Amino acid sequence: MSYFRDSRRIVVKVGTSTLTHSTGHLNLRRIEKLVKVLSDMKNSGIQVVLVSSGAVSAGVAKIGFGTIPETPEAKQAMAAIGQSELMKIYDKFFSDYGHTVAQILMTKDVLTNPSRRSAAENTFNRLLEMNCIPIVNENDSVSTDELTKFGGNDILSAHVATLCEADLLLNLSDVDGFYDSDPRTNPDARLIERVEEINDEILAIAGGAGTARGTGGMIAKLNAAMIVTAAGIPMFILNGQEPEILYALLDGGHIGTYFCAPKSKK
Ligand code: GLU
Repeated sequence: MSYFRDSRRIVVKVGTSTLTHSTGHLNLRRIEKLVKVLSDMKNSGIQVVLVSSGAVSAGVAKIGFGTIPETPEAKQAMAAIGQSELMKIYDKFFSDYGHTVAQILMTKDVLTNPSRRSAAENTFNRLLEMNCIPIVNENDSVSTDELTKFGGNDILSAHVATLCEADLLLNLSDVDGFYDSDPRTNPDARLIERVEEINDEILAIAGGAGTARGTGGMIAKLNAAMIVTAAGIPMFILNGQEPEILYALLDGGHIGTYFCAPKSKK
């Protein structure tokens, strides 16, 4: 069964560790591979929305700071510098493959304010109708508190998938999927290919509900999976280090971990 058979609209989330080198600078080779695969998905008739991190890291690298600054103001300034750097590269690579990108920067209050939410929905829909690839990030430079911050792009991508009524969310991470224990400390950890339901047992594997501890940020990914699956949208956690693995999914194979959505037909 191809997971893409009924997927006309997908959201792809990609994290900083996939997009940048350990120096913080953008990993151009990997970004280009990712752009090529996403362009091909688009060419095959799938509408693609990309949720991309990497702004803070790219800003820090560009300005020549060694590390991510401590103060929120400095971090917000770095995000402003890095976001344009990030978009410049995406625009260049996607243009090379014949596609048009559009930047959308989100704050959390867009979700709860009916007129702003409807404006965001309309903009996504119009852009997708116009064959563009919306590239979304949190508006880090102006989000400061609980009301405006999503608390990470795993959560942002889940809300974007819901807002756009996507058919599938692909969460590209630096691990192969969701394991039954932490693969970084347990060599016998086993990849779980399919999660029917995110129950207490699954949450316990990732470190328990609502805690900051988790296996490679798994709690945030499970929270994201809970948001989308409740809305009928399935989600994959996949390794983004080699973006070409997405072809295996496109070709009907199975990689990573698939979180089933009870209301979905898939
Ligand atoms: N919005 C942040 C950035 O672009 C990333 C947040 C995250 O990865 O969760 O740097």
